[in-house]
Amino acid sequence: MPWVLRGLRNGVVTTSYPRKSDPYAEAFPAAVRPVANAPVDEALCPTGAIRSEGDVLRVDTAACILCGRCVRERPELFSWVPGSETARLHRQALVVPQLPETDEAVELLRRALAARVRMFCRSVHVRHVDTGSDGSEEWEVLALLNPVYDVHRLGIFFTASPRHADVLLITGAGSHGMAEPLRRTVEATPRPLVVIAAGTDAISGGLIAPSYAVAEGIGDLVDVDVWVPGSPPSPFSLLHALLLAVGRISPEGR
Ligand code: SF4
Repeated sequence: MPWVLRGLRNGVVTTSYPRKSDPYAEAFPAAVRPVANAPVDEALCPTGAIRSEGDVLRVDTAACILCGRCVRERPELFSWVPGSETARLHRQALVVPQLPETDEAVELLRRALAARVRMFCRSVHVRHVDTGSDGSEEWEVLALLNPVYDVHRLGIFFTASPRHADVLLITGAGSHGMAEPLRRTVEATPRPLVVIAAGTDAISGGLIAPSYAVAEGIGDLVDVDVWVPGSPPSPFSLLHALLLAVGRISPEGR
């Protein structure tokens, strides 16, 4: 009986995202950005995500592991960015401030992806592939199934077989040992197929790349459609990536 009363007291905990914005998702510090331009020692960043290009300071969020060192040590130059809609269709669009040529390239990618995923309008099946993750991304992927995020309400289901999948959600830095299994998984998945690189490790290899054991992310192993940074990306960011992948949300937002 106590759980019934607790349930009645808590009410509905499932987020309304993406139908409505979610206060937690809006406030979550999911990325770092430069807020001023000044010379900075690039060695400040352990993963080389900070680029000092003449007068312009950029952060490559694809390489950022969200350690917070830059915000802590140079708060006049860097700050956290609230908001979980961090997924992008173009690897270069993860660099902030964005490179000038990116908008047109994103529009072309958006149209090409929209044409491919038109048939995914009702439900999609996702196959998760771990190519050498530290396990943190997996916790966030699992959270998508809990009552707060509840991806099933959006017609998104996880499947155990690539043969039943529409989307491959790939985590991990792309270890050499997983290159062949990943290639065979992609081969076994029916077309049209959408590939999501989930997490900084999957995009750039993160802290451990390049090394004898891993590639610099999975981009050299498979064609990626959606890039979602974060170490790990929050469940809201993963949800944003999935909705972007199947064309239910636009790259500019809801
Ligand atoms: S948060 Fe850490 S990894 Fe990210 S840009 Fe700053 S120093 Fe680099």
